[in-house]
Amino acid sequence: MEHCDWCDLSEEGRRFQLYESRSWSVFLADEQDLPGRCIVVLKRHCPSLSELTEEEWDELRELIRKTEACLKAVLGAALCNWSCLMNSFYKDPAPDPHLHIHVRPRYDKPVVLNGNTYTDSEFGHHYALNRSGAIPAEDKEEVFRRLKEWLDR
Ligand SMILES: [Zn+2]
Repeated sequence: MEHCDWCDLSEEGRRFQLYESRSWSVFLADEQDLPGRCIVVLKRHCPSLSELTEEEWDELRELIRKTEACLKAVLGAALCNWSCLMNSFYKDPAPDPHLHIHVRPRYDKPVVLNGNTYTDSEFGHHYALNRSGAIPAEDKEEVFRRLKEWLDR
């Protein structure tokens, strides 16, 4: 196997880890186009959902419950969009994907962080792919702090 970003994650890469179970890690995504956007990553190098073990599926079900409950309770998400795409790996002539799942909380009400207001202007529709993910670092920290506090209770 060549270098894999998820298998070779640095300390710095783990800076925004929110939660981990035996088989999975949950990170606050770099892109915060929707506040609280997360990535759920399998801890072993595995290419697709169809190759998960029973134990990994069982853990994933619990993790989905926990993550959704957290995003609803902490940020007021109305629902979450879950997507397992893997498309970018297939730009490579020899794709070697590492399973991960994007979690986008969707909001029917504004989210306020440090006095800044964020609205989900496409609520009820597919999220726009070209939304700006740039939110101030202190707002990302605030999201991280709030979500982690809920998950650690
Ligand atoms: Zn990997």
